[in-house]
Amino acid sequence: MSTQSTIPSVRILPETIANKIAAGEVVERPASVVKELVENAIDAKATRITVRLVAGGRRLVEVVDNGHGMSEQDAILAIERHATSKIRNEEDLDNIRSMGFRGEALASIASVSRFEMVTRRAKDDAATRLRIDGGVLRDVEAAAGPPGTRISVNRLYFNTPARAKFLKGLATELGRCIDAVQRHTLANTDIGFQLFHNDKLIFDVPDHADLRERVALIWGLNFLNDMVEFDGERDGYRFHGLMGTPALSRAQRSHQFFFVNNRPIVNRTLQYGFEEGFRSLLTIGRHPVGIVMIDVHPRLADINVHPSKRECRFRDDRAVRQMLRDVVRMRMDALAQPPERDEPEDHDRPSPRPEPPTWEPQPTNPVSEREDTEQRSLPVGEGRDFLLDQPKPEQTDFETPEPPDPETGSVAPAAVYRPVGAMEIPPVQLFDTYLLVPEDDRLLIIDQHALHERLNYDMLCSELEDREFEAQQLAVPLLVDVPPSHAKLLAGNIEVFKDLGIDIEEFGGNTWQITAVCHLYEESKVGDMIFQVLDTIAQGDLFERDDFMADLFRLATEACKASVRGGDKLSMEERMSLLRGFRSLRPPYTCPHGRPIITELTQFQMEKSFRRRQ
Ligand code: ADP
Ligand code: MG
Repeated sequence: MSTQSTIPSVRILPETIANKIAAGEVVERPASVVKELVENAIDAKATRITVRLVAGGRRLVEVVDNGHGMSEQDAILAIERHATSKIRNEEDLDNIRSMGFRGEALASIASVSRFEMVTRRAKDDAATRLRIDGGVLRDVEAAAGPPGTRISVNRLYFNTPARAKFLKGLATELGRCIDAVQRHTLANTDIGFQLFHNDKLIFDVPDHADLRERVALIWGLNFLNDMVEFDGERDGYRFHGLMGTPALSRAQRSHQFFFVNNRPIVNRTLQYGFEEGFRSLLTIGRHPVGIVMIDVHPRLADINVHPSKRECRFRDDRAVRQMLRDVVRMRMDALAQPPERDEPEDHDRPSPRPEPPTWEPQPTNPVSEREDTEQRSLPVGEGRDFLLDQPKPEQTDFETPEPPDPETGSVAPAAVYRPVGAMEIPPVQLFDTYLLVPEDDRLLIIDQHALHERLNYDMLCSELEDREFEAQQLAVPLLVDVPPSHAKLLAGNIEVFKDLGIDIEEFGGNTWQITAVCHLYEESKVGDMIFQVLDTIAQGDLFERDDFMADLFRLATEACKASVRGGDKLSMEERMSLLRGFRSLRPPYTCPHGRPIITELTQFQMEKSFRRRQ
């Protein structure tokens, strides 16, 4: 009898606690709030959705829509657990076309934040404003407001500090929020999306923009230019969307997006099928890029697998995987057949590059292959973890030391390579790629391309640093067409371009004119560079100003006049001049992308190899 009091009796949890527990599943981080609110706006048939974030979403996530809104009565119901207007009975579960249906999101979010909702139906005179603090309803009152709904989620997790500790840094949380909005922006081509962070516009996609325009507005035209459309149907499954040519590959899966009936999902089966389609077209360790839409009857695809509805299970996984693989292969085969180019014509779309690039076979030199893909495009979010399941950033940092190569164990040496011996002997060139320079007790092996990139970068930085660069007034101004979203960015960043050695001004309409450029630039490369710089600026304030400019200088380096590449035969004079450049470098001995410029073979190592030493 005495032990009985220690056995707790079963009880139904009070509503507020149940909501907090559910919040753990549904509201993992600010990005989950973004996702739930945006999905509600989509379900409310909005044609325009604005997302505002402050401090990576931790201070504020606000979603404004012009959807059908709610009556006062519905607004109060909507924040109750398991309150939903979207399903009524069990059969509805098999036929889900709406984004939400569990009726948990609002209740959960409101239980762990300071929550405000203002909502109005078009036919009502006034809006209803409703405030909840940590799950406690504070007030409901009539308010002014346009038709539609605005939900503001302030200070997420303010009342559950333990959970707040699990949040990552601002850049990571922001990246995930941006990723969530991007996915819905790609999936819903009849809805306009606007995204702000700390009042800065990150992107603005009008409701009538098609998928290609969306890609261009989010990641830039460079990115779009390397993507092709695909469309294939079999056994009730339709696969369509855009996929990158092999030239657009990535070191991570950060640019693979899958959608089932317009719902963004993660699914290994689809990922495998997609990548199998590219087999033998990409080098090991590279991943294709794609936006893959699957249209299928809801009965064949179960999305009620995960509380946040992020996953999807197909009736027949293997078949889906094979179908997607085949669709991709066929499209890639068609691309490889030369003269036929079955890309749709884009008529009046502004393009800095008139010729869409056709796919070329993979270069054999892995270094220059990486190089090429990285130069081609640097979309928003490149190098950062913009994907829920891809937390590892791609390494592009100049200052970051290269990890040791597992094969050779060598890294870019930290020593300083000032002239030690005679400088008049030209280095030997090996494999048209490396320069061999004997020194006292070692042989230096220099990567000619990495070195030249670094020299260009250093030269550009010193030339531009004090703004005293030698500007080359262009006899005929260079015209570039800029999409409207980028035009705002451009207008606001004329000074940044000046810092980069480019004078640019408005010409009229979508067109801008470049009147002068730093003499180090190759004129024909400047247009591309401007787009890449805009893409980087579009990421907002993620970085300290210094890092940010360093990033831009790195991009600008790509526009420098002819660079020595791996595979180029060099004259004696060219080799000498590279060596002189090398001797003037300061460590770290890495190219602007962080790859080593030099490795070395010491006398000691040689003696060990020949067993002259133990
Ligand atoms: P669910 O989306 O699963 O139904 P939620 O908790 O997300 O559950 O939302 C509860 C209900 O509130 C929805 O079913 C819908 O009727 C209403 N609602 C939520 N957000 C909006 C919105 N932006 N516009 C109109 N109605 C909304
Ligand atoms: Mg919902």
